[in-house]
Amino acid sequence: MQKNPFELLKTSEKSKARLGKLTTAHGVVNTPIFMPVGTAATVKGVMPRDLKEMQAEIILANTYHLYLRPGTDVIATAGGVQKFSGFNGPMLTDSGGFQVWSLKDLRKIKKDGVEFRSHLDGSKHFFSPASVMKAQREIGADIIMAFDECTPYPSTLEEAKHSLAYTERWTREAMEWLKENPPLHGYPQYFFGIVQGGMHKELRAKAIETLKELSPDGYALGGLSVGEPPEVMYEIADFCTDLLPQDRARYVMGVGTPWNLLELILRGVDMCDCVMPSRNARNGMLFTSQGVLRYKAGRYARIVDEAPDPECSCYTCRNFSKAYLRHLFQAGEMLGMTLATIHNLHFYLELMRRAKQKIAEGVFEEWALEQIPILQRDIP
Ligand SMILES: [Zn+2]
Repeated sequence: MQKNPFELLKTSEKSKARLGKLTTAHGVVNTPIFMPVGTAATVKGVMPRDLKEMQAEIILANTYHLYLRPGTDVIATAGGVQKFSGFNGPMLTDSGGFQVWSLKDLRKIKKDGVEFRSHLDGSKHFFSPASVMKAQREIGADIIMAFDECTPYPSTLEEAKHSLAYTERWTREAMEWLKENPPLHGYPQYFFGIVQGGMHKELRAKAIETLKELSPDGYALGGLSVGEPPEVMYEIADFCTDLLPQDRARYVMGVGTPWNLLELILRGVDMCDCVMPSRNARNGMLFTSQGVLRYKAGRYARIVDEAPDPECSCYTCRNFSKAYLRHLFQAGEMLGMTLATIHNLHFYLELMRRAKQKIAEGVFEEWALEQIPILQRDIP
């Protein structure tokens, strides 16, 4: 039996906000944390040294993408994804469940797994709980995820029940396979189970009960931010964290905006990941301490003496103006996307550092409620 990697350091007296520590062979992750997404073992547009400078403690990669390209055997030969990618810090891989589920017309869900066609070349593949665990053993991330079936939104109770049955069966099979097949690269890999059940509380409760019996190293909430209103997402997360064991990490997958993160921390969530800061940066949207800045706008063309976020200490805001960022975008220069991505990721990570500090000081709730409306504002 490997040791539980998570240590709960503090729970707020005024909300469910928590401070914790997740210890992996590649480093310690202080929670609450945001994990930048590096789909193909690279966070698009930035270098590992940029990620180090912004103190990213853990990044995520996608099993589905790495399985198709370059192939998980290549990563195994390199000694794991931390070495292969040059990040050399804690990493997490998802199981590919969400990606094959998103393929819609290209996949067929069966009792023992999912048959799908590659989005790259149309070739046929099959993911089963065992094959996905094998792929994650080869990739060698510090945290690996259950193979699940994402319940669509909206879904009836019957549909969600049917979908959850797949996740439960596959989780059990995955854990059995992992018991027989130890890690390949000489360090532990922690397994997180995924709670599904759609927006149906009775199913979420049942999913948690089943998962607790299996006792994974951590718990993820899947099937959130799939089209439901934010209030519903918060309510389901709140409901679930009441039922989850206190001594294990809780991870909400694929969420969200800076204000979503603060709302989820208030509800006892420790970890989040999302493509939003990097993807939106490339599309011209920055999250800042003053609200949302759409840096492509013509009104910034002559603002040469103001940082994108005057209160931010990232490389971009220390060295460049709004006008320069806009100019790079207008000129189609690669650097524009890189600088925007550096800012957004730094901003998310800095927000998490401040959240931790405020929880430690016992003033997180007041601070978060003051921040949430500011973060959502559109900067004129
Ligand atoms: Zn910045």
